[in-house]
Amino acid sequence: MVTQTKIEWTESTWNPVRGCSRVSEGCRYCYAERIAARFAQKGLAYEGIAKMTSAGPRWTNRVQRVPDVLDQPLKWKKPRLIFVNSMSDLFHEDVPLKYIQEVFDVMRRADRHQFQVLTKRAERLAELSPKLRWPPNVWMGVSVESAEYTFRIDCLRGTEAQLKFLSLEPLIGRLRQLRLDGIHWVIVGGESGPGARPMNEAWVAEIRDQCREDSVPLFVKQMGTVWARKRSLNGVSVRRRGRKGDNMSEWREDLQIRDYPKWS
Ligand code: SF4
Repeated sequence: MVTQTKIEWTESTWNPVRGCSRVSEGCRYCYAERIAARFAQKGLAYEGIAKMTSAGPRWTNRVQRVPDVLDQPLKWKKPRLIFVNSMSDLFHEDVPLKYIQEVFDVMRRADRHQFQVLTKRAERLAELSPKLRWPPNVWMGVSVESAEYTFRIDCLRGTEAQLKFLSLEPLIGRLRQLRLDGIHWVIVGGESGPGARPMNEAWVAEIRDQCREDSVPLFVKQMGTVWARKRSLNGVSVRRRGRKGDNMSEWREDLQIRDYPKWS
């Protein structure tokens, strides 16, 4: 069975690893942690991996390999965009290199699909990159939530990945003077869910201008919950606007951009 997703920039998810631990500010309201905690009761998929606490959902910091689903993409006949590990981080320090190599081997063999791997563990990515075989259908991305974490882009740039992308989501600070050489795609989005922090539309416009200057395709995913809430206060109906600010027809016209990189 193909695993559908509501994430706008992909079509399916594939989770050969479950569980994670927080590494930076962008993890503060991690959606994967929230979903995992909902399925953490006895007998469910995330038992022992996440839990509900008085402070909210929390990972237990146990990371589990799921070898049973390794061959899933090989069975999916129709070519798709597949987000790898939407519920974890493939480059988490507790995922052994050998297992990461197995995941890469499946992606290489399932070459009718395009695989989107996204990590916040950019240093480990850089360290392991020479030990991985990088087929053209693996898109490698790093998350950057604010200027403090732009070093991740340099780690990504140094890898052997053939298609490199940035996920600037949740964008919680301004990103000026992004170095985009060697980068093939940029996604940007505001934070959604309980506790979401604001994203300024002007920050998105700055990123758009930088992408244009370097001819890098941009995908604006969503304006975020704070933006959507403000519209609601201005009298726009809740159902029509969506709680994540993801209905692009309601954004400033100059930010209505959802482009993809070219792939073969
Ligand atoms: S790295 Fe990703 S999956 Fe892991 S805690 Fe942070 S946001 Fe969540």
